[in-house]
Amino acid sequence: MSSTPLLKVENLVKHFPIKGGILGRTVDKVHAVDGVSFELQAGETLGVVGESGCGKSTTGRCILRLIEPTSGTVWFEGKNVTAMGTTELRSMARDMQIIFQDPYASLNPRMTVQAIIGEALTIHKLTPDPAAYEARIVELLQTVGLSADHLRRYPHEFSGGQRQRIGIARALAVNPKLIVCDEAVSALDVSIQAQVINLLEDLQSQFGLTYLFIAHDLSVVEHISDRVAVMYLGRIVEIAASKDLYTRPQHPYTEALLSAVPIPDPQVKRTRIRLQGDVPNPIKPPPGCHFHTRCSIAQKGLCDVQSPVLKPAGADGHMVACHLRPG
Ligand code: SF4
Repeated sequence: MSSTPLLKVENLVKHFPIKGGILGRTVDKVHAVDGVSFELQAGETLGVVGESGCGKSTTGRCILRLIEPTSGTVWFEGKNVTAMGTTELRSMARDMQIIFQDPYASLNPRMTVQAIIGEALTIHKLTPDPAAYEARIVELLQTVGLSADHLRRYPHEFSGGQRQRIGIARALAVNPKLIVCDEAVSALDVSIQAQVINLLEDLQSQFGLTYLFIAHDLSVVEHISDRVAVMYLGRIVEIAASKDLYTRPQHPYTEALLSAVPIPDPQVKRTRIRLQGDVPNPIKPPPGCHFHTRCSIAQKGLCDVQSPVLKPAGADGHMVACHLRPG
């Protein structure tokens, strides 16, 4: 792997304003992403996990500037994405694509598969002559396991897994370097999830792709990720090489998430850690460590006062944000 990251995210913050009153003034804000930093090397897959509302999808969308970040910097191949104007951003969009969770909602039901995939080719002027245009779309369909027979069909004629393949073909059309997979397999049955994950892995080796793979389920990201970042209430609480995180979790939240992952071996028993209460309201996140209201080892006067920062927790860049771990 090269030492210059393909993607570098520095202290990314996204607060959504809440308007109220007769004048529609900002009365509060949702702390969706609260200072997220990480790097991603070319060809690597970083899994990002956490409960619904932890800010993982907002992080992915801020990176692509589908949502404007409140502050922070995103670097792609050394270029400051957050400072780019519209024209520069449009050309950068070729390099950074996204695959959404709901393949049906993200595909226009009135467009044929040819038109859906061809749209990006036309926008970026990638295949000027009509024969090359259709040949390229057929090639993309075959790359994702579909065929030329599917060209003139509409999204409703496909299964969920096939629709996700169309979404992947659309993302691939512009030869991207980075793909944000935003809960890309979460809506699919387990067996179809495995097929789509295998496809994504094959495409990664074939085209040298880099993935930011967002999911709420740790068991989904284990297979595909080189490293995994765990998010809680807008912050990364732990990040480590995949194997390290699954075998030596350091943060109490990661331990709780992992304890809920089924083990395929009936001989191995794991004690389920049940978290107390719900995820706090992101409009008023708890002071200090955001997790202290649910943490079984929280220390009063420390965890509810001081915010822990990510610090080394082992070899190979294992980092954890906890006052007591590693301890
Ligand atoms: Fe628990 Fe305190 Fe660590 Fe937060 S900092 S995870 S509350 S022990």
